[in-house]
Amino acid sequence: MTKRVVLIGHPVAHSLSGAMQQAAFDAQGVDAKYEMWDRPSIELPEAIAELRSDDFLGANVTIPHKERVVPMVDRLTEEGAATGAVNTITKEGKRLVGHNTDVVGFKTALDRLVGKQKMPRHAIILGAGGGARAVVYGLITEGFQRVVVFNRHLHRAEGLVKHFGKSAAHMELRAMPWHESIIEAELGKTKLLINATSIGLASDESPVSGEIIPADLLVLDLIYNRTRLLRDAEAAGSTVMDGELMLLHQGAAAFTLWTGQPAPLELMQEKLAEARAGGVRSAEGEPVGAVSAAGAGSGAAGSD
Ligand code: NDP
Repeated sequence: MTKRVVLIGHPVAHSLSGAMQQAAFDAQGVDAKYEMWDRPSIELPEAIAELRSDDFLGANVTIPHKERVVPMVDRLTEEGAATGAVNTITKEGKRLVGHNTDVVGFKTALDRLVGKQKMPRHAIILGAGGGARAVVYGLITEGFQRVVVFNRHLHRAEGLVKHFGKSAAHMELRAMPWHESIIEAELGKTKLLINATSIGLASDESPVSGEIIPADLLVLDLIYNRTRLLRDAEAAGSTVMDGELMLLHQGAAAFTLWTGQPAPLELMQEKLAEARAGGVRSAEGEPVGAVSAAGAGSGAAGSD
């Protein structure tokens, strides 16, 4: 019987994950179909309950449900529990297991962005949603000593800091109010800036003005596109990377969790590039323009 794997989000139209996961199932001889489920928050519990039927191998969960889904699964993996966010669900019989493969996706992207340079110890994160939680956990486990989280709604950033209280006890993890002057002051003390907001997703806006971006910054935008932030940062002389590599590696890890097989990375990358060239929007909802598959700056994204 053909098994089903679904992407649950709102919106999920024309997903890039669909293109890469279906191609991977087909290439590895896995009899499964990857489907898109656009479900507003109110329909999330019902959608998650449906996964318990034998038809389903598992699911991906995306914007804006990654945190909300946590109490709806039966067990969390270490990363699911540590982040308080789930982007992949697997099955143990009828029981649902919540994983967070964004963490490994983020760490792969970070390593590539930093390259041969020394791994920084201080970082600024813009955003405090599900994606930001994977980033914070990735930075904590990487040994960062100071991480500052800015969010439009400060209470959400404070909630994030509180969630990581224990695992971040050895370091400084702080929530700060979103004022450009404060962000500018913090940028002067750091080497790494990560955009985990959805600003730049649907419009050509940047979370910060180009003038405050220093020349020697490393900038990662989780959005899978050459955003205004990345263009401004590149113009300022910074090294930049978009969210493609993170998307690829979170997807590869999810594939392995569902199937027990290694993911055909090269094929998945190819399918991502094809879908992107065809103007498809990604699973994460990022608009995809006529941008080279390498994305911005470092060019690292296209080479895996
Ligand atoms: P969430 O819905 O959980 O969080 C959205 C975040 O964006 C919040 O911090 C929110 O702030 C902020 N935000 C949204 N609109 C605005 C605005 N107009 N002004 C200021 N802040 C805003 O989404 P996720 O964390 O799951 O995803 C965030 C982004 O990261 C998305 O663009 C997503 O595509 C990308 N992503 C990419 C991944 C990849 O593999 N490349 C993986 C995960 C995420 P507030 O709390 O104040 O509303």
